Amino acid sequence: TPEVRPLVAGNWKMNGTRASLDQIKAISDGVTGELSRKVEALICPPATLLYVATALCTDSPLAIGAQDCHQAVSGAHTGDISAEMIADCFGTYVIVGHSERRTDHAESDALVRAKADAAHAADLTAIICIGETADERKSAQTLDVLKRQLAGSVPDGAEASNTVIAYEPVWAIGSGLTPTVADVEEAHAFMRRELVERFGEQGRSMRILYGGSVKPSNAKELMAVANVDGALIGGASLKAADFLAIYRVY
Ligand code: PEP
Repeated sequence: TPEVRPLVAGNWKMNGTRASLDQIKAISDGVTGELSRKVEALICPPATLLYVATALCTDSPLAIGAQDCHQAVSGAHTGDISAEMIADCFGTYVIVGHSERRTDHAESDALVRAKADAAHAADLTAIICIGETADERKSAQTLDVLKRQLAGSVPDGAEASNTVIAYEPVWAIGSGLTPTVADVEEAHAFMRRELVERFGEQGRSMRILYGGSVKPSNAKELMAVANVDGALIGGASLKAADFLAIYRVY
């Protein structure tokens, strides 16, 4: 397997006001030196903080990204933001297809794929989220769901440099529950095979993150699993100390 630079990414969801910028500053200050060359760090604050967050991190290896984008370049889409707007704020990543978007906003695989295409057109790296629900896992459909979501949500133009896959079992998000190491290993090996089959060498080095109740106490064992190339962290990314503790397991 090729050397990939792991990515530790924080998703702040609908949390954070200007007062939270001190956490971004603390994270930025903590992402330095040798480790920052080896492992990439990213925080995705709410869109309201995007521009000021990137301004805070101009001299820092900490990347800043957004949590969603619209699939269109511009136009009559009240309340939405485009990939170009994210790039204009110096954001470099955008999360697409998070399970909360798929549920709250009925986002389909086809829409998520269009959003990833829009991200690529604006030179952003898309973090494409996939993962099975509790019911799907109970009925042993996990790998089928992952296969379908990878096929449907990842655009043909995906490359290792502009696309990250985040495997987030829906039942593990915000629940404190995580799959067993064996289950994570099976899912990630399966996704790797699917990506290599479709994208060849690019699929071999495309990063696959694990997300779902990652915290300082379980990060080491999860990040050590084969084909786990980093983490997507919700709750534990809101506090700089917790985020940095996870980052430093590498
Ligand atoms: C997420 O929302 O991407 C996530 C993984 O949340 P949490 O870490 O809080 O489970």
